[in-house]
Amino acid sequence: MRKPLVAGNWKMNGTRETVSALLDGLQTGLSGEKELGNKVDIAVFPPAIFAQQVADALTSTAVSWGLQNICTEEKGAFTGETSVVMAQEFSCTMVLAGHSERRSLYGETDADVAAKVDRAGQAGLIPVLCVGESLEEREANQTMEVVSRQVKAVLEQASPASLEKLVIAYEPVWAIGTGLTATPEQAQEVHASIRELLAKHDADMAARTRILYGGSVKGSNAAEIFAGPDVDGGLVGGASLNVQDFLSICRAAD
Ligand code: PEP
Repeated sequence: MRKPLVAGNWKMNGTRETVSALLDGLQTGLSGEKELGNKVDIAVFPPAIFAQQVADALTSTAVSWGLQNICTEEKGAFTGETSVVMAQEFSCTMVLAGHSERRSLYGETDADVAAKVDRAGQAGLIPVLCVGESLEEREANQTMEVVSRQVKAVLEQASPASLEKLVIAYEPVWAIGTGLTATPEQAQEVHASIRELLAKHDADMAARTRILYGGSVKGSNAAEIFAGPDVDGGLVGGASLNVQDFLSICRAAD
């Protein structure tokens, strides 16, 4: 039985003040709903610079946190990068790898993403591998070709140990930040195909790996999307910046 996970990707948003308000809201909201944290894993991915603030506020709560990206190198002359060890200094337990914005805006390749998954997983962090097709690729019926290529790169390149805790987020690029969402049927179809692909590699891994849906998830559409048997929760961008929306998405995963 896979425990659902709802994770909020704050992207490059927030100030000390707004982050503080968001964290206060999460603490207060969850203190009245202790059961929710037992039934659903909840996580947030703040900008790295807020990691200490997040750690200070969330340490005694059911919410985990992680970084939106990490470097595959251990340390040294890599200006602007954050290492896994640094992430762990701030009690991060997760890291996103290959978010579509990293792939499209910063040129991350499948090989780069696989290296990040490997680095994070080897260090004991939970890698959240993001995959998904563009609108042109969906319209050209290439969805599974693209998603399979992205997943296979990781299965082939990352060490088995790094995949123990792997989470996959299926995020159709055309649905990220656009207000468009995959239908529950479209999401379930891709999730089931990803699980089949994992099963060809390792049946146990296929059974245990949580596959999240991401792409304009809101309180109003989360329940129907999460109802798919292969949908194990969500990766949430915009709506995770609003405490009430985010908590209602968490509730929908229960
Ligand atoms: C995301 O950035 O991972 C995402 C799913 O964003 P949004 O929910 O805003 O579409």
